[in-house]
Amino acid sequence: MLKLYNTLSRKKEIFKPLKPKNIGLYTCGPTVYNYAHIGNLRTYVFEDVLERVLSANGYKVKRVMNITDVGHLTSDADSGEDKIDREAKVSKKTPAEIAQFYTKVFFDDLKKLDIKIPGIIAPATDYVPDQIKLAEQLFKKGYAYETPQALYFDVSKFKNYGRLSGKSLKQKITAARKEVVEDPGKRNPADFALWFKTAGRFKNHLQRWPSPWGEGFPGWHIECSAISRKFLGQPFDIHTGGVDHIGTHHENEIAQSEAAFGKPLAKYWLHGEHLSVNGGKMSKSLGNFYTLQDIIDKNFDPLAFRYLVLTSHYRSKLNFTMESLKAADNALNNLRNFLSAGENKKIRADKKITGKFEEGFLAAINDDLNTPRALAIVWEIIKNRKTPFSAKKRLILGFDKILGLSLKTAKTAKIPAKIEEIAKEREELRRNKQFIKADALRKEMERLGYVIEDTAYGTQITPARH
Ligand SMILES: [Zn+2]
Repeated sequence: MLKLYNTLSRKKEIFKPLKPKNIGLYTCGPTVYNYAHIGNLRTYVFEDVLERVLSANGYKVKRVMNITDVGHLTSDADSGEDKIDREAKVSKKTPAEIAQFYTKVFFDDLKKLDIKIPGIIAPATDYVPDQIKLAEQLFKKGYAYETPQALYFDVSKFKNYGRLSGKSLKQKITAARKEVVEDPGKRNPADFALWFKTAGRFKNHLQRWPSPWGEGFPGWHIECSAISRKFLGQPFDIHTGGVDHIGTHHENEIAQSEAAFGKPLAKYWLHGEHLSVNGGKMSKSLGNFYTLQDIIDKNFDPLAFRYLVLTSHYRSKLNFTMESLKAADNALNNLRNFLSAGENKKIRADKKITGKFEEGFLAAINDDLNTPRALAIVWEIIKNRKTPFSAKKRLILGFDKILGLSLKTAKTAKIPAKIEEIAKEREELRRNKQFIKADALRKEMERLGYVIEDTAYGTQITPARH
Protein backbone atom coordinates (compact mmCIF):
# COMPACT_ATOMS: atom_id res chain seq x y z
CA MET A 1 0.00 0.00 0.00
CA LEU A 2 1.52 3.26 -1.18
CA LYS A 3 1.03 6.38 0.92
CA LEU A 4 1.92 9.87 -0.26
CA TYR A 5 1.71 13.22 1.48
CA ASN A 6 -0.70 15.45 -0.39
CA THR A 7 -0.02 19.19 -0.01
CA LEU A 8 -3.64 19.82 -0.99
CA SER A 9 -5.09 17.93 2.01
CA ARG A 10 -2.01 18.40 4.23
CA LYS A 11 -2.18 14.70 5.02
CA LYS A 12 -0.48 11.46 4.15
CA GLU A 13 -3.04 9.68 1.99
CA ILE A 14 -3.37 6.17 0.59
CA PHE A 15 -2.58 6.55 -3.08
CA LYS A 16 -5.59 5.71 -5.24
CA PRO A 17 -4.95 6.25 -8.94
CA LEU A 18 -7.64 7.66 -11.23
CA LYS A 19 -7.29 4.67 -13.54
CA PRO A 20 -6.29 1.24 -12.24
CA LYS A 21 -2.88 0.86 -13.93
CA ASN A 22 -1.86 4.02 -15.75
CA ILE A 23 -0.69 7.10 -13.94
CA GLY A 24 -0.30 10.65 -15.18
CA LEU A 25 2.58 12.47 -13.52
CA TYR A 26 3.45 16.09 -14.19
CA THR A 27 6.72 17.51 -12.89
CA CYS A 28 7.52 21.19 -13.37
CA GLY A 29 10.79 21.49 -15.26
CA PRO A 30 13.67 23.95 -15.21
CA THR A 31 13.87 27.49 -16.55
CA VAL A 32 16.79 27.08 -18.91
CA TYR A 33 18.61 30.40 -18.56
CA ASN A 34 21.38 29.19 -16.27
CA TYR A 35 22.89 26.07 -14.69
CA ALA A 36 20.65 24.15 -12.30
CA HIS A 37 21.94 24.37 -8.72
CA ILE A 38 22.05 21.43 -6.35
CA GLY A 39 18.84 22.63 -4.65
CA ASN A 40 16.99 22.29 -7.97
CA LEU A 41 18.61 18.92 -8.55
CA ARG A 42 17.47 17.66 -5.17
CA THR A 43 13.86 18.13 -6.36
CA TYR A 44 14.56 16.16 -9.55
CA VAL A 45 16.07 13.29 -7.53
CA PHE A 46 12.93 13.21 -5.36
CA GLU A 47 10.70 13.10 -8.48
CA ASP A 48 12.85 10.34 -9.96
CA VAL A 49 12.46 8.26 -6.80
CA LEU A 50 8.70 8.89 -6.95
CA GLU A 51 8.54 7.62 -10.53
CA ARG A 52 10.60 4.52 -9.63
CA VAL A 53 8.41 3.80 -6.61
CA LEU A 54 5.25 4.09 -8.72
CA SER A 55 6.73 1.65 -11.24
CA ALA A 56 7.77 -0.72 -8.44
CA ASN A 57 4.12 -0.73 -7.34
CA GLY A 58 3.14 -1.99 -10.78
CA TYR A 59 1.90 1.25 -12.30
CA LYS A 60 2.69 2.40 -15.78
CA VAL A 61 3.75 6.01 -15.45
CA LYS A 62 3.25 8.65 -18.14
CA ARG A 63 5.50 11.44 -17.01
CA VAL A 64 5.57 14.93 -18.50
CA MET A 65 8.11 17.65 -17.83
CA ASN A 66 7.95 21.14 -19.30
CA ILE A 67 11.05 23.13 -20.14
CA THR A 68 10.54 26.85 -19.48
CA ASP A 69 12.20 28.69 -22.34
CA VAL A 70 10.05 31.83 -22.30
CA GLY A 71 7.97 33.95 -19.94
CA HIS A 72 9.50 33.24 -16.52
CA LEU A 73 10.23 36.64 -15.02
CA THR A 74 12.90 37.36 -12.42
CA SER A 75 10.13 37.40 -9.83
CA ASP A 76 7.67 34.48 -9.89
CA ALA A 77 4.94 37.08 -9.32
CA ASP A 78 5.38 38.73 -12.71
CA SER A 79 7.70 41.61 -12.02
CA GLY A 80 11.13 42.17 -13.47
CA GLU A 81 12.52 40.84 -16.73
CA ASP A 82 12.15 37.58 -18.63
CA LYS A 83 15.07 35.43 -17.46
CA ILE A 84 15.85 33.95 -20.90
CA ASP A 85 15.47 37.28 -22.68
CA ARG A 86 17.82 38.99 -20.24
CA GLU A 87 20.43 36.23 -20.52
CA ALA A 88 20.24 36.32 -24.33
CA LYS A 89 20.77 40.07 -24.42
CA VAL A 90 23.64 40.02 -21.91
CA SER A 91 25.47 37.22 -23.70
CA LYS A 92 24.58 38.47 -27.21
CA LYS A 93 22.98 35.17 -28.18
CA THR A 94 19.49 34.28 -29.31
CA PRO A 95 16.96 33.03 -26.71
CA ALA A 96 16.91 29.70 -28.58
CA GLU A 97 20.70 29.35 -28.24
CA ILE A 98 20.48 30.06 -24.51
CA ALA A 99 17.65 27.59 -24.03
CA GLN A 100 19.32 24.85 -26.09
CA PHE A 101 22.61 25.20 -24.26
CA TYR A 102 21.15 25.03 -20.75
CA THR A 103 18.64 22.33 -21.67
CA LYS A 104 21.53 20.13 -22.77
CA VAL A 105 23.48 20.82 -19.57
CA PHE A 106 20.33 20.04 -17.57
CA PHE A 107 19.86 16.63 -19.19
CA ASP A 108 23.56 15.86 -18.76
CA ASP A 109 23.15 16.60 -15.03
CA LEU A 110 20.13 14.29 -14.84
CA LYS A 111 22.07 11.48 -16.51
CA LYS A 112 25.00 11.91 -14.12
CA LEU A 113 22.56 11.58 -11.22
CA ASP A 114 21.01 8.45 -12.75
CA ILE A 115 17.67 10.28 -13.08
CA LYS A 116 15.39 8.72 -15.66
CA ILE A 117 14.60 11.25 -18.40
CA PRO A 118 10.81 11.84 -18.35
CA GLY A 119 8.92 10.21 -21.20
CA ILE A 120 7.56 13.51 -22.49
CA ILE A 121 9.68 16.65 -22.52
CA ALA A 122 7.77 19.76 -23.57
CA PRO A 123 9.54 23.10 -24.18
CA ALA A 124 7.04 25.94 -23.64
CA THR A 125 7.86 27.61 -26.97
CA ASP A 126 6.68 24.47 -28.84
CA TYR A 127 3.20 24.84 -27.35
CA VAL A 128 2.39 28.54 -27.68
CA PRO A 129 -0.87 27.94 -29.65
CA ASP A 130 -2.13 25.68 -26.82
CA GLN A 131 -1.36 28.40 -24.30
CA ILE A 132 -3.16 31.03 -26.40
CA LYS A 133 -6.19 28.74 -26.68
CA LEU A 134 -6.33 28.31 -22.92
CA ALA A 135 -5.97 32.08 -22.34
CA GLU A 136 -8.81 32.69 -24.81
CA GLN A 137 -11.00 30.24 -22.95
CA LEU A 138 -10.35 32.09 -19.68
CA PHE A 139 -11.04 35.42 -21.35
CA LYS A 140 -14.34 34.15 -22.77
CA LYS A 141 -15.40 32.83 -19.37
CA GLY A 142 -14.74 36.21 -17.76
CA TYR A 143 -11.68 35.19 -15.73
CA ALA A 144 -9.27 37.35 -17.69
CA TYR A 145 -8.99 41.03 -18.61
CA GLU A 146 -6.79 43.01 -20.92
CA THR A 147 -4.65 46.10 -20.26
CA PRO A 148 -2.43 47.90 -22.78
CA GLN A 149 0.46 45.74 -21.47
CA ALA A 150 -0.93 42.27 -20.87
CA LEU A 151 -3.79 39.83 -20.44
CA TYR A 152 -4.28 39.01 -16.76
CA PHE A 153 -6.03 36.33 -14.77
CA ASP A 154 -8.32 38.02 -12.23
CA VAL A 155 -7.68 36.08 -8.99
CA SER A 156 -10.70 37.66 -7.27
CA LYS A 157 -12.98 35.78 -9.71
CA PHE A 158 -11.66 32.36 -8.67
CA LYS A 159 -13.12 31.44 -5.32
CA ASN A 160 -10.78 28.59 -4.49
CA TYR A 161 -7.67 30.71 -4.89
CA GLY A 162 -5.20 29.86 -2.11
CA ARG A 163 -6.40 26.33 -1.39
CA LEU A 164 -3.04 24.72 -2.03
CA SER A 165 -0.98 27.07 0.13
CA GLY A 166 -3.73 27.54 2.69
CA LYS A 167 -3.39 31.29 2.33
CA SER A 168 -6.47 33.40 1.81
CA LEU A 169 -6.62 35.76 -1.12
CA LYS A 170 -6.53 38.63 1.35
CA GLN A 171 -3.20 37.42 2.77
CA LYS A 172 -1.91 36.93 -0.72
CA ILE A 173 -2.93 40.42 -1.78
CA THR A 174 -1.23 41.96 1.25
CA ALA A 175 1.97 40.08 0.40
CA ALA A 176 1.75 40.93 -3.28
CA ARG A 177 1.44 44.64 -2.48
CA LYS A 178 5.09 44.63 -1.53
CA GLU A 179 5.95 43.55 -5.08
CA VAL A 180 6.57 46.31 -7.59
CA VAL A 181 3.45 46.60 -9.70
CA GLU A 182 4.74 47.50 -13.11
CA ASP A 183 1.36 47.77 -14.81
CA PRO A 184 -1.07 50.41 -13.43
CA GLY A 185 -3.91 48.62 -15.24
CA LYS A 186 -3.65 45.53 -13.00
CA ARG A 187 -6.81 45.17 -10.90
CA ASN A 188 -5.42 43.15 -8.00
CA PRO A 189 -1.73 42.96 -7.13
CA ALA A 190 -1.97 39.13 -7.09
CA ASP A 191 -3.36 38.94 -10.64
CA PHE A 192 -0.92 37.22 -12.95
CA ALA A 193 -0.21 37.50 -16.65
CA LEU A 194 -1.49 34.92 -19.11
CA TRP A 195 0.02 36.89 -21.98
CA PHE A 196 2.52 39.75 -22.07
CA LYS A 197 2.33 42.15 -24.97
CA THR A 198 5.52 43.33 -26.61
CA ALA A 199 4.58 46.83 -25.49
CA GLY A 200 5.72 49.05 -22.60
CA ARG A 201 8.47 47.35 -20.57
CA PHE A 202 8.56 44.43 -23.03
CA LYS A 203 8.76 46.57 -26.18
CA ASN A 204 12.13 45.05 -27.09
CA HIS A 205 11.41 41.49 -26.04
CA LEU A 206 13.11 39.06 -28.41
CA GLN A 207 10.67 36.13 -28.44
CA ARG A 208 7.19 37.07 -29.76
CA TRP A 209 4.17 35.40 -31.32
CA PRO A 210 0.90 36.76 -32.78
CA SER A 211 -2.18 36.44 -30.55
CA PRO A 212 -5.74 37.82 -30.26
CA TRP A 213 -4.27 40.48 -27.90
CA GLY A 214 -1.47 41.50 -30.21
CA GLU A 215 2.10 40.32 -30.53
CA GLY A 216 3.67 39.04 -27.35
CA PHE A 217 4.66 36.01 -25.30
CA PRO A 218 2.99 33.73 -22.75
CA GLY A 219 3.28 34.17 -18.97
CA TRP A 220 5.10 31.44 -17.05
CA HIS A 221 2.21 29.64 -15.33
CA ILE A 222 0.04 29.08 -18.39
CA GLU A 223 2.55 26.72 -20.02
CA CYS A 224 2.13 24.12 -17.29
CA SER A 225 -1.67 24.26 -17.45
CA ALA A 226 -1.66 23.97 -21.26
CA ILE A 227 1.03 21.27 -21.48
CA SER A 228 -0.34 19.07 -18.69
CA ARG A 229 -3.82 19.20 -20.22
CA LYS A 230 -2.51 18.34 -23.67
CA PHE A 231 -0.66 15.20 -22.56
CA LEU A 232 -2.42 14.05 -19.40
CA GLY A 233 -5.95 15.43 -19.59
CA GLN A 234 -7.67 16.76 -16.51
CA PRO A 235 -7.64 15.75 -13.77
CA PHE A 236 -4.45 13.71 -13.75
CA ASP A 237 -2.92 11.83 -10.81
CA ILE A 238 0.15 13.56 -9.46
CA HIS A 239 1.63 17.03 -9.85
CA THR A 240 5.01 17.78 -8.28
CA GLY A 241 7.52 20.57 -7.84
CA GLY A 242 9.59 22.32 -5.20
CA VAL A 243 8.01 23.90 -2.12
CA ASP A 244 8.80 27.32 -3.60
CA HIS A 245 6.22 26.54 -6.32
CA ILE A 246 3.31 26.16 -3.89
CA GLY A 247 2.37 29.77 -3.15
CA THR A 248 2.43 31.27 -6.61
CA HIS A 249 3.17 28.99 -9.55
CA HIS A 250 1.05 26.01 -8.54
CA GLU A 251 -1.70 28.14 -7.08
CA ASN A 252 -1.87 29.93 -10.43
CA GLU A 253 -1.80 26.69 -12.43
CA ILE A 254 -4.77 25.43 -10.39
CA ALA A 255 -6.67 28.71 -10.86
CA GLN A 256 -6.19 28.67 -14.65
CA SER A 257 -6.99 25.00 -15.24
CA GLU A 258 -9.94 24.76 -12.88
CA ALA A 259 -11.46 28.05 -14.04
CA ALA A 260 -11.14 27.03 -17.69
CA PHE A 261 -12.51 23.49 -17.42
CA GLY A 262 -14.46 23.31 -14.16
CA LYS A 263 -12.53 20.25 -12.99
CA PRO A 264 -9.64 19.75 -10.56
CA LEU A 265 -6.18 19.92 -12.15
CA ALA A 266 -4.52 17.07 -10.25
CA LYS A 267 -5.46 14.71 -7.43
CA TYR A 268 -2.18 14.63 -5.51
CA TRP A 269 0.30 17.48 -5.09
CA LEU A 270 3.78 16.56 -3.87
CA HIS A 271 6.49 19.07 -3.05
CA GLY A 272 10.20 18.66 -2.34
CA GLU A 273 11.74 20.73 0.46
CA HIS A 274 14.60 23.20 0.16
CA LEU A 275 18.27 22.47 0.35
CA SER A 276 20.37 24.85 2.39
CA VAL A 277 24.13 25.17 2.33
CA ASN A 278 26.01 25.39 5.65
CA GLY A 279 22.70 26.12 7.31
CA GLY A 280 21.88 29.12 5.13
CA LYS A 281 20.33 30.05 1.84
CA MET A 282 22.41 29.25 -1.21
CA SER A 283 23.42 32.39 -3.04
CA LYS A 284 26.01 33.42 -5.58
CA SER A 285 27.05 36.45 -3.52
CA LEU A 286 27.80 34.30 -0.46
CA GLY A 287 30.00 32.00 -2.55
CA ASN A 288 28.03 28.91 -1.49
CA PHE A 289 26.19 28.35 -4.75
CA TYR A 290 26.89 24.89 -6.13
CA THR A 291 26.14 23.28 -9.45
CA LEU A 292 26.68 19.58 -10.06
CA GLN A 293 29.84 20.44 -12.00
CA ASP A 294 31.24 22.23 -8.92
CA ILE A 295 30.89 18.95 -7.03
CA ILE A 296 32.50 16.97 -9.84
CA ASP A 297 35.35 19.51 -9.97
CA LYS A 298 36.00 18.76 -6.31
CA ASN A 299 36.60 15.14 -7.29
CA PHE A 300 33.27 13.80 -6.04
CA ASP A 301 31.20 11.22 -7.81
CA PRO A 302 27.88 12.91 -8.73
CA LEU A 303 26.10 9.86 -7.33
CA ALA A 304 27.53 10.75 -3.91
CA PHE A 305 25.23 13.78 -4.14
CA ARG A 306 22.32 11.49 -5.01
CA TYR A 307 23.22 9.33 -2.00
CA LEU A 308 23.27 12.43 0.20
CA VAL A 309 19.82 13.45 -1.08
CA LEU A 310 18.47 9.99 -0.25
CA THR A 311 19.72 10.23 3.34
CA SER A 312 17.09 12.84 4.10
CA HIS A 313 13.35 12.62 3.51
CA TYR A 314 12.16 14.75 0.58
CA ARG A 315 9.85 16.76 2.86
CA SER A 316 12.65 17.62 5.31
CA LYS A 317 15.12 20.41 4.79
CA LEU A 318 18.51 19.10 3.72
CA ASN A 319 21.56 20.96 4.94
CA PHE A 320 24.36 20.51 2.44
CA THR A 321 27.93 20.79 3.72
CA MET A 322 31.20 19.50 2.28
CA GLU A 323 31.42 17.21 5.31
CA SER A 324 27.99 15.71 4.64
CA LEU A 325 28.92 15.19 0.99
CA LYS A 326 32.18 13.49 2.03
CA ALA A 327 30.28 11.22 4.40
CA ALA A 328 27.84 10.31 1.61
CA ASP A 329 30.75 9.68 -0.75
CA ASN A 330 32.41 7.37 1.79
CA ALA A 331 29.19 5.49 2.40
CA LEU A 332 28.64 5.00 -1.32
CA ASN A 333 32.22 3.77 -1.74
CA ASN A 334 31.82 1.36 1.16
CA LEU A 335 28.67 0.06 -0.44
CA ARG A 336 30.43 -0.46 -3.77
CA ASN A 337 33.42 -2.06 -2.11
CA PHE A 338 31.17 -4.41 -0.22
CA LEU A 339 29.43 -5.47 -3.43
CA SER A 340 32.65 -5.95 -5.39
CA ALA A 341 34.75 -7.55 -2.63
CA GLY A 342 32.37 -10.25 -1.56
CA GLU A 343 32.44 -12.17 1.70
CA ASN A 344 33.66 -15.63 2.26
CA LYS A 345 31.14 -17.20 4.59
CA LYS A 346 29.60 -20.55 3.87
CA ILE A 347 26.04 -20.08 5.03
CA ARG A 348 22.69 -20.67 3.42
CA ALA A 349 20.18 -17.92 2.74
CA ASP A 350 17.24 -17.91 5.11
CA LYS A 351 14.08 -16.90 3.23
CA LYS A 352 12.55 -15.63 6.44
CA ILE A 353 15.36 -13.14 6.93
CA THR A 354 15.63 -12.02 3.31
CA GLY A 355 11.85 -11.75 3.04
CA LYS A 356 11.80 -9.50 6.08
CA PHE A 357 14.38 -7.22 4.52
CA GLU A 358 12.37 -7.05 1.31
CA GLU A 359 9.19 -6.24 3.19
CA GLY A 360 10.95 -3.61 5.28
CA PHE A 361 12.40 -1.89 2.23
CA LEU A 362 9.08 -1.86 0.40
CA ALA A 363 7.29 -0.56 3.48
CA ALA A 364 9.84 2.24 3.78
CA ILE A 365 9.61 3.48 0.21
CA ASN A 366 5.82 3.09 0.18
CA ASP A 367 5.60 5.21 3.30
CA ASP A 368 5.76 8.55 1.48
CA LEU A 369 9.13 7.65 -0.08
CA ASN A 370 11.06 7.18 3.15
CA THR A 371 14.50 6.87 1.57
CA PRO A 372 16.50 7.37 4.80
CA ARG A 373 14.81 4.29 6.26
CA ALA A 374 15.31 2.40 3.00
CA LEU A 375 19.06 3.16 3.10
CA ALA A 376 19.26 2.09 6.73
CA ILE A 377 17.85 -1.29 5.70
CA VAL A 378 20.60 -1.65 3.10
CA TRP A 379 23.19 -1.27 5.87
CA GLU A 380 21.33 -3.69 8.12
CA ILE A 381 21.57 -6.25 5.33
CA ILE A 382 25.31 -5.70 4.96
CA LYS A 383 25.82 -6.19 8.71
CA ASN A 384 23.55 -9.23 8.97
CA ARG A 385 25.60 -12.29 9.95
CA LYS A 386 23.01 -14.88 9.03
CA THR A 387 22.73 -13.98 5.35
CA PRO A 388 25.24 -15.07 2.70
CA PHE A 389 26.87 -12.59 0.40
CA SER A 390 25.04 -13.80 -2.71
CA ALA A 391 21.66 -13.12 -1.08
CA LYS A 392 22.80 -9.75 0.24
CA LYS A 393 23.97 -8.71 -3.20
CA ARG A 394 20.74 -9.83 -4.83
CA LEU A 395 18.68 -7.85 -2.32
CA ILE A 396 20.75 -4.69 -2.58
CA LEU A 397 20.89 -4.69 -6.39
CA GLY A 398 17.12 -5.19 -6.42
CA PHE A 399 16.66 -2.19 -4.11
CA ASP A 400 18.93 -0.14 -6.32
CA LYS A 401 16.13 -0.06 -8.91
CA ILE A 402 14.58 2.47 -6.51
CA LEU A 403 17.69 4.07 -5.07
CA GLY A 404 19.31 4.66 -8.47
CA LEU A 405 22.92 4.50 -7.29
CA SER A 406 24.09 2.52 -10.35
CA LEU A 407 25.40 -0.19 -8.03
CA LYS A 408 25.22 -2.89 -10.66
CA THR A 409 27.58 -1.19 -13.05
CA ALA A 410 29.46 0.87 -10.49
CA LYS A 411 33.17 0.56 -10.49
CA THR A 412 35.25 1.84 -7.68
CA ALA A 413 37.49 4.75 -8.67
CA LYS A 414 40.32 3.79 -11.03
CA ILE A 415 43.54 3.70 -9.05
CA PRO A 416 46.89 3.90 -10.89
CA ALA A 417 49.09 0.79 -10.75
CA LYS A 418 51.81 2.65 -8.90
CA ILE A 419 49.43 3.56 -6.10
CA GLU A 420 48.14 -0.02 -5.93
CA GLU A 421 51.73 -1.19 -5.55
CA ILE A 422 52.43 1.17 -2.67
CA ALA A 423 49.19 -0.01 -1.04
CA LYS A 424 50.27 -3.64 -1.33
CA GLU A 425 53.66 -2.84 0.16
CA ARG A 426 51.94 -1.03 3.03
CA GLU A 427 49.69 -4.02 3.61
CA GLU A 428 52.73 -6.28 3.80
CA LEU A 429 54.41 -3.97 6.33
CA ARG A 430 51.27 -3.87 8.44
CA ARG A 431 51.06 -7.63 8.45
CA ASN A 432 54.62 -7.70 9.75
CA LYS A 433 53.66 -5.10 12.36
CA GLN A 434 56.01 -2.49 10.91
CA PHE A 435 53.50 0.24 11.56
CA ILE A 436 55.82 3.23 11.40
CA LYS A 437 57.03 2.29 7.92
CA ALA A 438 53.48 1.47 6.86
CA ASP A 439 52.33 4.87 8.02
CA ALA A 440 55.08 6.56 6.03
CA LEU A 441 53.71 4.86 2.90
CA ARG A 442 50.21 6.07 3.76
CA LYS A 443 51.56 9.62 3.89
CA GLU A 444 53.38 9.08 0.60
CA MET A 445 50.08 8.02 -1.00
CA GLU A 446 48.37 11.09 0.39
CA ARG A 447 51.08 13.26 -1.09
CA LEU A 448 50.32 11.61 -4.46
CA GLY A 449 46.64 12.48 -4.04
CA TYR A 450 45.16 9.22 -2.67
CA VAL A 451 43.61 8.42 0.67
CA ILE A 452 43.84 4.93 2.09
CA GLU A 453 41.41 3.69 4.69
CA ASP A 454 41.02 0.35 6.42
CA THR A 455 37.32 -0.46 6.46
CA ALA A 456 35.35 -3.48 7.56
CA TYR A 457 35.32 -4.60 3.92
CA GLY A 458 39.04 -4.34 3.36
CA THR A 459 41.41 -1.59 2.43
CA GLN A 460 39.96 1.19 0.39
CA ILE A 461 41.83 3.67 -1.78
CA THR A 462 40.07 6.82 -2.97
CA PRO A 463 41.27 9.97 -4.73
CA ALA A 464 41.70 12.79 -2.23
CA ARG A 465 38.91 15.38 -2.28
CA HIS A 466 39.70 19.05 -2.32
ZN1 LIG B 1 4.81 24.32 -13.59
